[in-house]
Amino acid sequence: MSSVSDTLPITETTTPGDASELAEVVRSCHETETAIYPIGGGTSLGYGLSAKREGIGLSLAQLASVVDYPARDMTITVGSGITMRALAEILAAERQRLPIDVPGASQATLGGVVATNFNGPRRYGQGTVRDHVIGIHAVDGRGLSFKGGGRVVKNVAGYDFCKLLTGSLGTLGVITEVTLKLKPIPDRFAIVFCSPTDLNQADRLLAALVNSETTPCAVELLVGPTWTADKQFTDLSSSGSSLFLAVAVEGTEPEVEWMTKQLGDEWRSEGVSSHQIIEGHAADELFGSMTEFPSSGESPLVLRASIAPSGITRFIEAVQSLDANCSVQSHAGNGIVIARLSEFPSAGLAKTLVGNLQAVAASAHGNVVVLSNPGGSEMTHQSVWGAVDAPFELMSSVKREFDPKNILNPDRFVYVS
Ligand SMILES: Cc1cc2nc3c(=O)[nH]c(=O)nc-3n(C[C@H](O)[C@H](O)[C@H](O)COP(=O)(O)OP(=O)(O)OC[C@H]3O[C@@H](n4cnc5c(N)ncnc54)[C@H](O)[C@@H]3O)c2cc1C
Repeated sequence: MSSVSDTLPITETTTPGDASELAEVVRSCHETETAIYPIGGGTSLGYGLSAKREGIGLSLAQLASVVDYPARDMTITVGSGITMRALAEILAAERQRLPIDVPGASQATLGGVVATNFNGPRRYGQGTVRDHVIGIHAVDGRGLSFKGGGRVVKNVAGYDFCKLLTGSLGTLGVITEVTLKLKPIPDRFAIVFCSPTDLNQADRLLAALVNSETTPCAVELLVGPTWTADKQFTDLSSSGSSLFLAVAVEGTEPEVEWMTKQLGDEWRSEGVSSHQIIEGHAADELFGSMTEFPSSGESPLVLRASIAPSGITRFIEAVQSLDANCSVQSHAGNGIVIARLSEFPSAGLAKTLVGNLQAVAASAHGNVVVLSNPGGSEMTHQSVWGAVDAPFELMSSVKREFDPKNILNPDRFVYVS
């Protein structure tokens, strides 16, 4: 992972001790029109258009404490600088959790996860981080504090700032505090696993899952060398195929007992010759590999497509025809495909994306974005963010309202002022 100063044009990094100190820093940067780059765990500072304007790093490391945790109400309010691992440990003590699995959890912070709206495999059964944020405090580009939502799940009148700030990449406000609604940790977790012979069989199994009587929490289609190099996966696969379908289920003992058996029966009727049911440590390890995949290892280019689930296998075929050694993870039930390429496309980024993959994604009503391009070449707006169909001018005016001098992560996101 590259260092902060390699990724951001910063002259210094300041670490405010609390939210009012942070607001003071932003206020003075507003006066001097100094660019501010919020820093959580620094695990995906390369996400977005390359940062060009020199400025300061603003670390949230000191805003990492628990503000309020009424476990009985299944909500928690914490500083945005808390790491996902530390948060999970606090919640586990009450047998509760935020069912969002992110890579690098010991570094990634809640503020960074909310700002990037990154979500892991459990988004299928448990929803995304946006569904769990019920309250938010932030500081806008003038240094003014504002908040949205609250400490309980309530539908208050007015614009939903929780949803607006989720995925806004720190361009509308620096998130200082978040209130989350939580879920209980289930009694049992299992993964039902098979190796489709090819993408056609995988497509049929994914289509059949839509009508399954079970309620999986994750549906993962995995393709390529990262997975075939992993003994965990090859040991489980009898067909020698480089395709793996992993469906995770969780709940009470009897629920999981029933769902694993039911899925096995459904797959047998779909012609799957063999499947495995994995539990305990092996299942946690397998799920861990799937959670870490998006940012594990070195890749010259990492892409993410968000498309209609029925277009998944076609998109994977298109990526494989570009790079036969690419590794792919698909949150298949949600139409998300993450592709880690083994080499930078010889045709260049623009031709590969604008001229090819974006068209394939568009044919499945979706889009492709660049998650990581360490080399940094050809990071144009259209390559990085793909086809943006939202009203550009309206969105840019929202940006101008929150950050009139464009100092928050300037010109890194979709909408520039
Ligand atoms: C290539 C790659 C792919 C990834 N794919 C996934 C994935 O598919 N699913 C997944 O769950 N995770 C993914 N991640 C992990 C991701 O790094 C983290 O989940 C998380 O988004 C980043 O947390 P962080 O605290 O390290 O944020 P940082 O890397 O510090 O910051 C990320 C962005 O958020 C902004 N930001 C950070 N904190 C705040 C704040 N408090 N207020 C406002 N803006 C803020 C930063 O300015 C920056 O633009 C991926 C990471 C990489 C490198």
